[in-house]
Amino acid sequence: MKEYQRCTRCIMDNKSDLTIIFDENGVCNYCKDALNSGAKIYFPNKEGEIKVNELVVRLKKENSKRKYDCIMGLSGGLDSSYLAYLGSCWGLRILGIHIDDGFDTKISRNNIMKLCDKANIELITINPDRKQYNDLTRAFIMAEVPNIAIPQDNILFANLYKYARKTGVKHFLSGGNYALECILQKGNTHNAYDKVNIKNIHSKFGRYPIDNLELISDQQRFIDKYILKIESLRPLNYVNYNRERALKELSDFCDFEYYGNKHHENYLTKFIQIYWFFNKFGVDKRKSHLSSMIISNQMTREEAIQELEKPLYDEEEMNKLVNYILKKLDLDQNIFYRIMDRPGKQHNEYKISKFSKFLHTIKR
Ligand SMILES: [Zn+2]
Repeated sequence: MKEYQRCTRCIMDNKSDLTIIFDENGVCNYCKDALNSGAKIYFPNKEGEIKVNELVVRLKKENSKRKYDCIMGLSGGLDSSYLAYLGSCWGLRILGIHIDDGFDTKISRNNIMKLCDKANIELITINPDRKQYNDLTRAFIMAEVPNIAIPQDNILFANLYKYARKTGVKHFLSGGNYALECILQKGNTHNAYDKVNIKNIHSKFGRYPIDNLELISDQQRFIDKYILKIESLRPLNYVNYNRERALKELSDFCDFEYYGNKHHENYLTKFIQIYWFFNKFGVDKRKSHLSSMIISNQMTREEAIQELEKPLYDEEEMNKLVNYILKKLDLDQNIFYRIMDRPGKQHNEYKISKFSKFLHTIKR
């Protein structure tokens, strides 16, 4: 076992990530790469303002004959909510897609309603077949793979592309951003478009059919993206995206209420982010989130370490959350805790799509 080492600039360490590399000064590859790419993708300045203006003019022009200028997934989380708010300030006509998978928190549901109402965003809420969705998510837990949010993500992507085909709109606005996500942990994840992996895991652990769920494969996305020329844009990289300020602006604009922490807008996501990853894979997601904020100058390393020293969750509250999730997924407690006692598996221990693998290889 290697000796514990934490980066001297950010707070990534070799406990949460075995692939991390440190240089002679103890600086890790994550923050080094993030700082190098920052200059190329993040423009929290005058140049960003120009880029936003150009983008808005282009979206309006290219979609002038359509009902919307762009399509966005709205999770109720900060990134997509703030972008939707900015988009509406920029005068964009947005079609919002929200997946209500039955695990939304009340705060988040209200936030989405208040935001869309105030920003005049047309919202389509998709309700995936509960029984089938829960069965698929349950199968992912039974498969003991890290990214059990894949069913949730895939259904959102499937619907984004579906509405792009339906409306003819060729632009997605994505809340993905440098400021809060410039450090994303590698390892313990998998491509959410790998339908082969989804189907294989379900064939092994599912109990019901999943024929009512709208899923998208990498091939389909490839066709949509390159043949229909669909573009995914990240305008949060063109503004000085500061978490505290974004929350304040949203709260002033539509009474947006904060729901706790990154990704805690949905009970299932919260369970995955702070319980599943940590207890099954030893990954504390706060390390990459806080490290991103150090790199985008929203926090000092000392503040991040202080934050990290706080317990990840309150035991009693987490017990309630776990019980709630297990009940909804119809997963027996004894089976679940036996799963939690075993080391995790990886997605490639199940069938994976050769096409996804190929795309992934050429992207590198
Ligand atoms: Zn680092």
